[in-house]
Amino acid sequence: MTERKCKRCGKMFPPKNNKQTYCNPVCRIEYNKEKLIEDRKELKEFRSGKTNNFIRSIAAEAKAAGMSYGKYVAMIELQKGGIQSESKVFFETD
Ligand SMILES: [Zn+2]
Repeated sequence: MTERKCKRCGKMFPPKNNKQTYCNPVCRIEYNKEKLIEDRKELKEFRSGKTNNFIRSIAAEAKAAGMSYGKYVAMIELQKGGIQSESKVFFETD
């Protein structure tokens, strides 16, 4: 089997099976932990003001497309094949 690049640290390693994407379990656990923290950070930014800018830009896009905000968001949702639950919560609260 050819060597693979670890998804977290970038080190080359010989995978034991096709699914192995990290050089060792520590990298896998750490990567998931970091990702979780990243997600939370994004969520925090999302809720602390950047959200408003985002809504504004969506609303502007909707206006440019000659659609209502709700219709435009629904269209995006369809195109994306369903948006993530966190985003969905904020769309519905608008
Ligand atoms: Zn690694």
